[in-house]
Amino acid sequence: MILMNDFKAEPETLIAAELQAVERVLRSGWYVLGEEGRKFEALWSQRCGTQHAVGVGNGMDAIEIGLRALDIGPGDEVITTAMTAFASVLAIIRAGATPVLADINPETGLLSLESVRRCITPQTKAVLLVHLYGQVRDMDAWLALCEQHQVALLEDCAQAHLASVAGQVAGSFGSFGAYSFYPTKNLGAIGDGGALVTSNAALADKAGVLRNYGQSVRYYHPEFGMNSRLDEVQAALLSVRLQWLEQYTAHRQSIAQQYRNALNNAHVKLLLAPEAVTAHVYHLFVVLTQHRESLQAHLQASGVQALIHYPVPIHHQERCGDIRRDPAGLQASETHALQCLSLPCHPQMSEQDVQTVIDAVNRFVP
Ligand SMILES: *Cc1c(COP(=O)(O)O)cnc(C)c1O
Repeated sequence: MILMNDFKAEPETLIAAELQAVERVLRSGWYVLGEEGRKFEALWSQRCGTQHAVGVGNGMDAIEIGLRALDIGPGDEVITTAMTAFASVLAIIRAGATPVLADINPETGLLSLESVRRCITPQTKAVLLVHLYGQVRDMDAWLALCEQHQVALLEDCAQAHLASVAGQVAGSFGSFGAYSFYPTKNLGAIGDGGALVTSNAALADKAGVLRNYGQSVRYYHPEFGMNSRLDEVQAALLSVRLQWLEQYTAHRQSIAQQYRNALNNAHVKLLLAPEAVTAHVYHLFVVLTQHRESLQAHLQASGVQALIHYPVPIHHQERCGDIRRDPAGLQASETHALQCLSLPCHPQMSEQDVQTVIDAVNRFVP
């Protein structure tokens, strides 16, 4: 079976380096907020082109901590997309702010500028962009819109490790970028992890306080913070895995290019190709079809796993029935949720695997 992810197939050289990193931490006698964390934060901020990175417990906390560090909370509205991981919206709720859902562009699955414009009110404090599936697009237009309305631009980069536009990396455009290192992400830990990246020193300082019980100096707590820290074992593992990220991203991009060139089934639509100046990092390769259930079953029978990201738009979640939203509705998100299907696109796939997926999709008859 060709899986969506195949961690057990990772190379022995990578595993050996990871075991060495774990042993180094174990024998160091220091496990939370130390050298390994600071080293990874320095490496990651450098790769993102930001002045600071603050390691936290996971991607959702990175968003919540960033919002709280910007003093965005009760009474404030944050606009984001109805087509995202639930964590994007839950982070806004947990920060005490009010999420407002905007619709997507059906060609890309990303937030629609027109829809976001309709959602802006005097209470709007920020737009949380989600670089869904690894795409970064239209950053000039987003920066201009946020500037015009005097609201913060925030980036959920959980699916977009080192995606870029003209060399500028995701997370460096807005007030902050929130990264997740959940195992399935393009850069994943062996457990949970996350980071907030920013070039705003005051914001980075406050995030560092908030992740550690709101403590500024030992035993002094100017904030009611959280306990959300990237531990030393995960940081050491991430520093090792970071050395493989470029090569793994190139592999994802090569698979995606082969899919783009070879998929030719009239019942299967591709998302808009990335613009020439952008690096799409293909966290997921998503297609659209009106026959999703039968395509998924056909792929399964052909030895190809395919998953859905995401089957339920945020406003259809049980607790979100009366969530605020674009007055014109969220039709494009609803249609996308019914039609999207993610094909395997990960660094352990062989040429043969890629061909198997292509043949299976092209053979599909609804
Ligand atoms: C995975 C993900 C998150 C949450 O990250 P965790 O580390 O699991 O908390 C947030 N937003 C998006 C878009 C994601 O894909």
